[in-house]
Amino acid sequence: MDILLETQKKVVEKGIQILSSNLTVGTWGNISSRVPKKDYIAITPSGMSYDQLLPKDIVILDLEGNIISGAHKPSTEVPLHLEIYNARNDVQAIVHTHSAYATAMAVARKGIPGAVEDLVQIVGGNVRVNDYALPGTKQLGINTVKAMEGRNAVLLANHGMLGVGRDLEEALRVCQVVEKAAKITILAQLIGGVVELTQDDIDGMRDYYLNSYGQR
Ligand SMILES: [Zn+2]
Repeated sequence: MDILLETQKKVVEKGIQILSSNLTVGTWGNISSRVPKKDYIAITPSGMSYDQLLPKDIVILDLEGNIISGAHKPSTEVPLHLEIYNARNDVQAIVHTHSAYATAMAVARKGIPGAVEDLVQIVGGNVRVNDYALPGTKQLGINTVKAMEGRNAVLLANHGMLGVGRDLEEALRVCQVVEKAAKITILAQLIGGVVELTQDDIDGMRDYYLNSYGQR
């Protein structure tokens, strides 16, 4: 199958999974993936519900944001996605959501501490909050890349969260784990506070996740 179409199909499938994961409501949020072996990305169109999307609706862009194919306007957060892809060679896919607990922490502008084991394994440590910038701006992308240094997730101040990964599957899993960690953090604050893991333990668990975890 055509590599563009294959990537478009994967983005559509992930959108449907996100709808059933309670991470998003309506059309808010967006998903993108690099097109393997090409300097292109595939991104969800602006303002279309995930369950209505067909593969051809997914917009293909080059890394400068020029439209290669797709009948619709791409997500308004293209500058955010492009800034990340251009800064991070390790990122193959991006999932951005407005899920409730992560956004609660983003509104409070409180980072998620590195206190939950699955969080530090998949994200690489705590989750920072970026400096506020308006949605749809290049500045939002710049601030996001900065706050996400050495991590696979970030909270977008007064907006939501964003997770990245080696594929769409991992980027979605990052968002699910971050949302759960945000909920746990808020609950733990209510019963006396959070005890953070040491950097040594975080590094050890991250290393294990990257090199030994799963079926290899
Ligand atoms: Zn958003």
